[in-house]
Amino acid sequence: MVKYKRILLKLSGESLMGNQGYGIDETRLNEYAEQIAELVKLGVQTGIVIGGGNIFRGLSGTGKGFDRVKGDQMGMLATVINSLALSSALKNQNIQARVFTAIRMEPVGEYYSKEKAIEALQKGEVAIISAGTGNPYFTTDTASALRAVETEAEIMLKGTRVDGVYSADPEKDPDAQKFDKISFAEVYTRNLRIMDLTATTLCQENNLPVLVFNMDQKGNLKKVLTGENIGTIVY
Ligand code: UDP
Repeated sequence: MVKYKRILLKLSGESLMGNQGYGIDETRLNEYAEQIAELVKLGVQTGIVIGGGNIFRGLSGTGKGFDRVKGDQMGMLATVINSLALSSALKNQNIQARVFTAIRMEPVGEYYSKEKAIEALQKGEVAIISAGTGNPYFTTDTASALRAVETEAEIMLKGTRVDGVYSADPEKDPDAQKFDKISFAEVYTRNLRIMDLTATTLCQENNLPVLVFNMDQKGNLKKVLTGENIGTIVY
């Protein structure tokens, strides 16, 4: 028995670069694909949103003199590159995946709609939903919250490099404590930056819980679905 029937997994672009400083590390990509394949084999309907920070972030462009909107569009295209890479890695695991794009660019991907994404999920295909929200000034955390709500996912799984939410930065503060559970209200009062505020508010207002967990530890994604207590649930 799996704990959730339909999930939305958020992967940061940065984590795809592994130990490299830039781009896509194929070892890391294949590890992620293996973990995702395990979920699909358990019958979990899996939607995925990937960031683009390993290739380009809009804000970093403004420092180089780029227009913010153009920079954000470059960032959104970066998420499409990562999504294509993941879909191809999943195919190598014999998992069917479809790439949707929030900005029209057939034949690179199908133009996203809630209906098409849900249809894919119901067929057991992984729906990789790319190009963020399609709008500048948003993040892929917000895009993943939006797609999770739209596709009626039970939970958003935020795969990170840390094993959960802490009261302070565990690398700087030896007294930092990890939460097993924390409410959105407490996240605000403690000023914990798990995601940007737009994303957090969207989750809170739509009663979408978020599980923050370490995706870089092999087998963790499956553990989440089989009900092991890992990571931190934000509710
Ligand atoms: N982006 C955007 N609108 C969106 C989602 C993303 O403009 O709806 C752009 C933005 O420039 C962002 C970049 O795409 O910096 C990459 O996304 P993000 O920084 O969220 O990636 P991550 O940090 O997860 O790698």
